[in-house]
Amino acid sequence: MPGFLPELIKKSRFLLDDLFAFISSPLCSGCGRNLEYNHLPLCDICRLRLVNDFHGEGPVCLICHAPQAIACGCLIDNRYPMPSMFYWCDYTETVKSLIHGFKFQGDIRLGSFLIDMALNVMSERLSKIACEKIVPIPLRPKDKRHRGFNQSDLIAEKIGSIINAPIDLNLLHKIKPTRLQANLSAKERWLNVKDVFAVEDIDSVRGKSILLVDDIVTTGATSREASRALYSAGALKVTVFALACADIRKQAG
Ligand SMILES: [Zn+2]
Ligand SMILES: [Zn+2]
Repeated sequence: MPGFLPELIKKSRFLLDDLFAFISSPLCSGCGRNLEYNHLPLCDICRLRLVNDFHGEGPVCLICHAPQAIACGCLIDNRYPMPSMFYWCDYTETVKSLIHGFKFQGDIRLGSFLIDMALNVMSERLSKIACEKIVPIPLRPKDKRHRGFNQSDLIAEKIGSIINAPIDLNLLHKIKPTRLQANLSAKERWLNVKDVFAVEDIDSVRGKSILLVDDIVTTGATSREASRALYSAGALKVTVFALACADIRKQAG
């Protein structure tokens, strides 16, 4: 059997090549299947599911989710109007894992892909709202350095390029550390973010209509608290945009 050994080596090499190709080929960030085209982070099935399932929402009340055509009467501290909110999609388990990949694993390519998908749906609505400044929900400088980026900055930058409004990264500051909201109960979330935001330059806020940008809205506690800081500094109107929103009515049920 003089040809047996070389044949075996050849077959083993093919097997190893196949195994290496399987291991090294990129996986879909949504379902983990191997991707045929590695220029997109999601497979066609996951991408089409996002396109088909999510058509955008808003304006709705940030807290009670009532359509803003209906005056719900929600106020911040019984003083300031509750912001209207626009968002791209519901905070499903798939969306949660995608946004976590973007935010906590630093997958900027995936984040950029999701933001583009969201703005394809939302850009027309966003271009109609009053907006003189776009303000991302800030991280503390230390946290931003640690993560390497602020996901809300990236969303705000893309919105700014579409609706042609300036982004102000220095208008709102996070002045206290907070625990991760995802691990807290609804009541703990409200306490966790209380008084964590501040406006230094009141003149740059007074009388302005502001679009406040966040990645995820769950109870609305963070966006509400940031809006309170903006309104108390004299903002005329605050509107919120988020990539995803959890339905608090379903959570309550
Ligand atoms: Zn997939
Ligand atoms: Zn309301």
